[in-house]
Amino acid sequence: MSSSTTSPRVHTRSAELFDRASRVIPGGVNSPVRAFQAVGGTPRFMVSGHGPWLTDADGARYVDLVCSWGPMILGHAHPAVVDAVRAAAEDGLSFGAPTEREVELAEVIVDRVDPVEQVRLVNSGTEATMSAVRLARGVTGRPVIVKFAGCYHGHVDALLAQAGSGVATFGLPTSPGVTGAQAADTIVLPYNDLDAAAAVFAERGADIACVITEAAAGNMGAVAPLPDFNAGLHALTTAHGALLVIDEVMTGFRVSRSGWYGLEGVPGDLYTFGKVMSGGLPAAAFGGRAELMSRLAPAGPVYQAGTLSGNPLAVAAGLATLRAADDAVYAALDANAAKLGGLMGDALSAAGVPHRVQFAGNMLSVFFTETPVTDFAAASAAQTWRFPAFFQALLARGVYGPPSAFEVWFVSAALDDEAFEVIASALPAAARAAAEATPPPEPDPGPAAPTEAEPAEGSGR
Ligand SMILES: *Cc1c(COP(=O)(O)O)cnc(C)c1O
Repeated sequence: MSSSTTSPRVHTRSAELFDRASRVIPGGVNSPVRAFQAVGGTPRFMVSGHGPWLTDADGARYVDLVCSWGPMILGHAHPAVVDAVRAAAEDGLSFGAPTEREVELAEVIVDRVDPVEQVRLVNSGTEATMSAVRLARGVTGRPVIVKFAGCYHGHVDALLAQAGSGVATFGLPTSPGVTGAQAADTIVLPYNDLDAAAAVFAERGADIACVITEAAAGNMGAVAPLPDFNAGLHALTTAHGALLVIDEVMTGFRVSRSGWYGLEGVPGDLYTFGKVMSGGLPAAAFGGRAELMSRLAPAGPVYQAGTLSGNPLAVAAGLATLRAADDAVYAALDANAAKLGGLMGDALSAAGVPHRVQFAGNMLSVFFTETPVTDFAAASAAQTWRFPAFFQALLARGVYGPPSAFEVWFVSAALDDEAFEVIASALPAAARAAAEATPPPEPDPGPAAPTEAEPAEGSGR
């Protein structure tokens, strides 16, 4: 049993490392959400992961419900994946020339996702969405892209935009460094609002290169598309000669063997993948019909490239992960998500905390509200101030959840009885902590001060 995880601990080593890190790395981390700013406290520096467990620099053990933000569906250090990476490493780390395993990984992806006939491998989800958008603009010869508030597609300049005033108007940058011009060709609409999409197409249809949407939103918490939403986007884009880019970086090869497409069957024109298909190393992809993908260099004129794209180790890890991800793994992911959601819901109900546990396939999150959350405005209107107490109480009892109310909880197939015992015994105290949390003071109704620009998305890992 993991008694070490339940004893109070001083996170000396993590605190020391965070101090050192903060001197040489901005904010002490290489991706913002890791800094724990939304929940407070010291980010835990991890030293190892095995199966469903993580061990931090102070020797504390946690059940991992983040799974590296999705990739580790088999759990950590899965023997088949580690062996594949080790074997690949012994044969050389990178050649800058094609290898057979890249072909095999592309074949596995094409085999799993019907609308995808060709894929190009890249190094991150950000690169995948950036390249898919460039291809959509290149193929259509149109400038405008449509995205949805609360959907995160990586830190691509044109996709770091929030809604301007009015519906069919230009977007505004959500980060300094993104120019007005870069955001101006991005239209941002409320998620799950097909009428808003139809209105934009009625007004600007001939200028729209693509609509990009998360297959099911997972970056504002778990917000599944309403039943006709993706199909409606498909109909609109098709009618107006625009492309539908379905971002399956998070859902792909996680929520089913064919990702969200496997659950819903609505075809997109272009797809982006990452996370699970990387096996935990830097790899991602974008793909679609051969007729579209063949417009990429060197077959076509739209430029796209990468020194380390299709890296032998990353491809080996992704291939081994997808080969091991059989029907039993997907059944376990679904069962574990249902079990986790059930335990969370029971504990929060017992503590009298208003909440909804929402699912998007086997991704889930808890919103502290009783109103169904279908878009970013609703996600933001929940009592997110309860989240830090909930998170910290779980962490102190050996459960490592996502350190932000706007992130989903990721299960692995490796969660076992012992892991669920730790979760089940931690939840009642976490639910009580959420119940006892108090809202922040009302904002001072004095003269309006300029506020720091907040990203429209909850995310930013
Ligand atoms: C994580 C994520 C990305 C970005 O992927 P990175 O590898 O972090 O660049 C893009 N889209 C979605 C839906 C994601 O969840």
